[in-house]
Amino acid sequence: MQFSELGLIPEIQLAVSEAGYTEPTPIQQQAIPFVLAGRDVMGAAQTGTGKTAGFTLPLLQRLAPHANSLPSPARHPVRALLLTPTRELAVQVFESVQTYGKYLPLRAVCIYGGVPMGPQTQELLQGREIVVATPGRLLDHVESRNISFAQVSLLVLDEADRMLDMGFIPDIRRILALLPQVRQSLLFSATFSDEIRKLAASMLRDPVRVEVARNNSAAETVTHRVLVVSEHDKRAALTDLLLADPRQALVFVNTKFGASRLAVHLARQGIQADAIHGDKSQQQRTEALEAFKRGEVRVLVATDVAARGLDIEDLPFVVNFELPGNAEDYVHRIGRTGRAGKSGEAMSLMDAGEEKRLLEIEKLLGRAIPRETVDVTGSGGRGERRERGTERAPSAGRAASARRRSPVAVPAHIAADGFDFSKPYEPSTDSANTDAGTPLERTVRRRDRQVAALLGGLPKNPG
Ligand code: AMP
Repeated sequence: MQFSELGLIPEIQLAVSEAGYTEPTPIQQQAIPFVLAGRDVMGAAQTGTGKTAGFTLPLLQRLAPHANSLPSPARHPVRALLLTPTRELAVQVFESVQTYGKYLPLRAVCIYGGVPMGPQTQELLQGREIVVATPGRLLDHVESRNISFAQVSLLVLDEADRMLDMGFIPDIRRILALLPQVRQSLLFSATFSDEIRKLAASMLRDPVRVEVARNNSAAETVTHRVLVVSEHDKRAALTDLLLADPRQALVFVNTKFGASRLAVHLARQGIQADAIHGDKSQQQRTEALEAFKRGEVRVLVATDVAARGLDIEDLPFVVNFELPGNAEDYVHRIGRTGRAGKSGEAMSLMDAGEEKRLLEIEKLLGRAIPRETVDVTGSGGRGERRERGTERAPSAGRAASARRRSPVAVPAHIAADGFDFSKPYEPSTDSANTDAGTPLERTVRRRDRQVAALLGGLPKNPG
């Protein structure tokens, strides 16, 4: 299918052509006709599928009859509200609005926290048809009476699952209560928990459900790999990996503190690196991201929250320095690579304590990820990777024992614990219950406790 078959008006079609897109992605093919027809949409799509253009293009077309170049603010009331969980995603959506709307005299503003309110207030008072915003700062403007929602006829809630994770649902409900009842609403989410469904039911009218791939699935174009390495050897393994492979990489860690420390460590090893996380100012985050996009920074170390919404084209390589505690975050992380059909690689460094997380991720993805081992040198290039189950690597301790107790060649659809991937995904319900889990998981926990005892005692508050 070609974009020209979607019935987009010439102003938008031209902007799409100039952006270099000829064929709509599957989510665009499905969503655009329904949005143009005025229907509410519940979209199951993750980052990297082209969903942003999927809602931006038809939204611009719905607003096009109101486009005008008159100076009066009264001629530019807020007509469309696009809510995103993070500043980075807000900027990305705003940039799409500007790119695809460049031949339409519609005004847009991007509203997010961490920067002074003044310039945003000024823009709002001048009149803006399209407001892209994070919920907290938008409510600040509501309280300051800088914005009126009386004319809002279109609402987009992007990455609703992340809104939920970040605790924004009460803010969203407050905003919803301020909007006109008669409006068109679109909700996009990578995953649909009961709570998201409840939210969708309360804000959508007779929605059409559009979906790309299976829920919770990751881009098919991404190669997943796992390197089994001891916690102690992780930094050296990462250094080896980055010195041997000159590509730019986005490296995920689980904590803000870990992000800064790892970036400093890499810089000391001669690898240009910067970190973005929630404690950095918006300006620092933007600068780091821009430097990364320009190729001036080779490695960007990021936490999940800070990386949300990063749109980095052609990023071939994502590394998980630690596996995320939540399997769905893995899907979000690797959504940074393999975008829009391009091929990408996701490499995870896993220590023995993270095996359970990997099993959850494999269940969510619906496939097993091959484990590899490596001889860690910490100086780059000399580490030799091999499929696990072959000759033992010389590094001692927990990594070696992890290899011994871990699965070797298993059929692609059967996990190490016997889980059958052909079954639908069911999230783990009680990860805190230490007696829960498969025999393999219980063995891993027992052994971890033994190792912990050998290393000087068990933590007072495990988990
Ligand atoms: P998104 O899922 O909206 O974050 O988009 C992922 C990436 O796909 C972005 O870099 C877009 O510029 C790109 N993209 C969006 N639509 C298309 C298309 N129809 N063809 C090729 N690339 C696209």
